[in-house]
Amino acid sequence: MAATQETNLGNLEALLAETLSASTDAGVTSKLAKAQELIQSIKSRQQLLDQGVLSKFRLDGKVAVVTGAGQGIGQALAHGLGEAGCKVAVADLELSRAETVVAELQAKGIESIAIKVDVSKKEEAEAMVQTILAKWGDLDIGVNNAGIVYSTVDNHSEDIPASQWERTMAVNLNGVFYCCQAEGKHFLKKGYGKIINTASMSGTIVNHPQIQSAYNASKAGCVHMTKSLAAEWADRGVNVNSISPGYVDTALNRTEALTPIRDQWIRETPSKRLADVQDLVGAIIYLSSPLSDYAVGLDMIIDGGFTLW
Ligand code: NAD
Repeated sequence: MAATQETNLGNLEALLAETLSASTDAGVTSKLAKAQELIQSIKSRQQLLDQGVLSKFRLDGKVAVVTGAGQGIGQALAHGLGEAGCKVAVADLELSRAETVVAELQAKGIESIAIKVDVSKKEEAEAMVQTILAKWGDLDIGVNNAGIVYSTVDNHSEDIPASQWERTMAVNLNGVFYCCQAEGKHFLKKGYGKIINTASMSGTIVNHPQIQSAYNASKAGCVHMTKSLAAEWADRGVNVNSISPGYVDTALNRTEALTPIRDQWIRETPSKRLADVQDLVGAIIYLSSPLSDYAVGLDMIIDGGFTLW
């Protein structure tokens, strides 16, 4: 129970007891006694809840890092983890974005730091983890979320430049691996840790009408890399899983090229809407909590049913 709620109930109980002891009217006395019983039942119910399954989702005192947390999905995941009790390192290529999110978190009373990182550079991924260890002495949860896409309806694979293919792989596949590796080293040493990679439903299906073969391949790679690391590290206390969102309403696809086809995505989604970033937060809290200790190499596809049709 929240501390203020507990204090209010305590004050109410004291007030009732005082009034009860002063009461000489039998009718009032019996009503006050009934009110005392109700308070007791609220307290017992709350005690059950406090010790029950919901408390196992709490992440108090844990340290989390979220990459690509300067906006969009990562920003929402950083807030979710902070609200669940984590200290949060907000890592992004754009430091100013990360700093803005840190200010939002700090305004909520969440301990937080901004880190500039290009995840496609192994040494920067390692430095990110070292910065967190130097600041807080530990790391428990790594959410490797930074990703990019080159996507238009005429982005024909026979013509895409090598630079597009290479940068997509560098961020979405190499970058996620470098982060897993840097976080994994620390987690394996202490025998516990949670890694959650943001893949995509594009790792399972081929999106249309837009063309984005590099992205799709990078995300399929991300899903299978996640499973490979999961199998390798499961018996050493490290869980590696991924979430695979469907179409989410973020800057990633609010582009001039993709905006005209958003209605088509919505029509083809059983839920008949794009995802809101909040639709993904619950999965991250579950995958970060001890309740997911037996979840190994899951790819949680959260797509409003898009991949069902
Ligand atoms: P976004 O573009 O809104 O935000 C991505 C953030 O990552 C940005 O702040 C950007 O600065 C940062 N970033 C980019 N390259 C980086 C790098 N090399 N190192 C560190 N940070 C970097 O995107 P989003 O929609 O929030 O997507 C987040 C993740 O979710 C991506 O991996 C994306 O592929 C995946 N995803 C998005 C959707 C969607 O529809 N938006 C769907 C499925 C999966």
